Amino acid sequence: MKYLSTRGNAPLLSFSDVALSGTARDGGLYVPESFPQFSRVDLKAMARLSYPALAFEILKPYVAGSIPDADLKTLLDDTYGAFHHPAVAPLQQIDTNIFLLELFHGETLAFKDYALQFLGRLFDYLLAKSRRHITVIGATSGDTGSAAIAACAGKSTMDIFVLHPQGRTSAVQRRQMTTVTAANVHNIAVEGSFDDCQDIVKALFADAKLVDELHLTAVNSINWARILAQVVYYFYAALRLGAPERAVSFVIPTGNFGNIYAGYVARQMGLPIQRLVAATNRNDILARFFESGAMEIRPVEPSLSPSMDIQISSNFERLLFEVYKRDGARTGSVLKSFRTDGSFAIGKAELTELQQLFRSVRVDDAATLSSIRDTYQHSGVLVDPHTAVGLAAARQLEGDTPIMSFACAHPAKFPDSVRDATGVTPPVPARLQAALDGTERFVVLENSVSKVRNHIRSQLQQAAA
Ligand SMILES: *Cc1c(COP(=O)(O)O)cnc(C)c1O
Repeated sequence: MKYLSTRGNAPLLSFSDVALSGTARDGGLYVPESFPQFSRVDLKAMARLSYPALAFEILKPYVAGSIPDADLKTLLDDTYGAFHHPAVAPLQQIDTNIFLLELFHGETLAFKDYALQFLGRLFDYLLAKSRRHITVIGATSGDTGSAAIAACAGKSTMDIFVLHPQGRTSAVQRRQMTTVTAANVHNIAVEGSFDDCQDIVKALFADAKLVDELHLTAVNSINWARILAQVVYYFYAALRLGAPERAVSFVIPTGNFGNIYAGYVARQMGLPIQRLVAATNRNDILARFFESGAMEIRPVEPSLSPSMDIQISSNFERLLFEVYKRDGARTGSVLKSFRTDGSFAIGKAELTELQQLFRSVRVDDAATLSSIRDTYQHSGVLVDPHTAVGLAAARQLEGDTPIMSFACAHPAKFPDSVRDATGVTPPVPARLQAALDGTERFVVLENSVSKVRNHIRSQLQQAAA
């Protein structure tokens, strides 16, 4: 399988190169030349596979030519064998027609582990083979950072630098990152918003000299290998709810559009998905887009679901590329003017087509808290604010298609909101308590590309000395 850039002006790459390079040289994102197809017969045969065995079937065509089958199988068995629930991603029924897919059974108790635990092992495998070292850089609004750090910590083939917006992640999220003691882990608190952090990371990647010098690699949700790992649980959930005989709708609490784009990929591969619903908080750029076809940036406002406090959803570019029938030049020029003007709009026909599949629902903080409370009162289940945004959106949908709503984080990661809504403090799993008890280690830097670049260089020089 070969991969091409959404801006149409970068070399075709193999899976390994795409995984290790993150963004394309032309500023675009890599997507596969085509989506492998699974027929109804294929789906039926996959229905009873374990999570890692299913992951193997789904990933195999995408990594073809890069990783031998036996090695891929070992990587996936190691990754998902280390999860803290035998089903890896268990389903829970919340209401007659609403189900939760529990995606918090990984190391850092959020869905990002499902992709990043795989990515860490994948990188280590590819780098050890070619005796290389990389510098992983990422921006986080909360959960990505800790999951990436947990995936990379202690691996001699890499150093990892994670930028978080100072004071804008929850204390639990910050501590999960900053209490990791491995010497190859470097935390940076940036005086700015998550979008500022993301812009710095983008600027570093746009510096071709720096990319070559430090072997910079992204682990943000734009990394194709991450998207791919996330495709797996759409299949896993739908097959358990009766696919291919029965279609399923998914509700996805959305920020960077990575998780929901993985659902789009699953549907392109033949999984019968009726609707993909992007649930947003007050930062509702996607909700406004799916209604009007116009993407318009507004300032980011803090909410109870900080991992979704995002205005520019980087993975949206991959969907736009499909909307424009894979015209890279057009995708690139629209996104460039979006950067300068702060807005763009797609045509009416294009919007109508997207609305066949996508919907978006905005849920404010008050509705988030009532969703936590209602879920607890009616089903006895404690959910975190991100999950609650999804459930509030799910309750607004009509029809009799089963709805699979994602439980993106463990409630113990956001104890304050859960307590405010229910009066109950969620029990803290042992692996989280251990992280909370450690000493914090991080630097605070100005919102400046050059300050961050200098810091990274000097840390790496110290490590090499
Ligand atoms: C990252 C995250 C999101 C948003 O996911 P995207 O892939 O960025 O859309 C939602 N909820 C939680 C708990 C997260 O960690």
